Amino acid sequence: MPVLFVGHGNPMYAISDNKYSKVWRELGKKLVRPKAILCVSAHWLTKGTFVTMMDKPKTIHDFYGFPDELFRVNYPAEGAKEYGKETIEGVKKTKVDEDYEWGLDHGAWSVLMNMYPDADVPVYQMSIDYSKPAEYHFELAKEIAFLRKRGVLVVASGNVVHNLRMVRWEENAKPYDWALEFDGIVKKNIEDDNPKVLVEYEKTGEAARMSHPSNDHYLPLMYALGLREKGDGVEFFNDSVDMGSMSMRSVIFS
Ligand code: ZN
Repeated sequence: MPVLFVGHGNPMYAISDNKYSKVWRELGKKLVRPKAILCVSAHWLTKGTFVTMMDKPKTIHDFYGFPDELFRVNYPAEGAKEYGKETIEGVKKTKVDEDYEWGLDHGAWSVLMNMYPDADVPVYQMSIDYSKPAEYHFELAKEIAFLRKRGVLVVASGNVVHNLRMVRWEENAKPYDWALEFDGIVKKNIEDDNPKVLVEYEKTGEAARMSHPSNDHYLPLMYALGLREKGDGVEFFNDSVDMGSMSMRSVIFS
């Protein structure tokens, strides 16, 4: 199976017909049908690493101040316990625990309800241990690379540039220079297959610091990079900076 990193951006895009959601919908039709989806979302940060193991993960509305319509979204995909168990057993470098509390957060369902509107592919999530550095996540991802051969589509969901404090709300907002600069650094080092620079992204300077005041939306990219295999093709999509400070750049390794 391919590996996806998806920039999810504004939660409203889940239910908007815009240029980003349009691509998500096309993507779901284009990809080989997965047996299950593992989502690593920027919105599930924990101490330790957890995998959802419920039969029916609930739809979590983890945001405030959005229209009722968004709070009413229900994404009724089944869970994927068997794959969850394989994931837990496959990771040796740390202990991965079972979770029965979480569900599907909007980092997962905003994209998946467009890719698979019938919710007919089982979905489970793995949390991000927020106490750990980027390199840890990059290395951890390598341990679950076997899932690709098992028919699991890994969808890492975050944003390559994500600075909420600097968001510009006007339509067709001009991207900040630092947003374009860091987005370009990510693009180039993915093209050159140079993940080390992206793992040590803080060393790239001021643009990195501005792009990620906190790195919750960056860390999912570490999973996609860790799951990349030699010889994978690279295809970017939704590669534009939205609202001035949010890169929607997404990539598929296949
Ligand atoms: Zn988000």
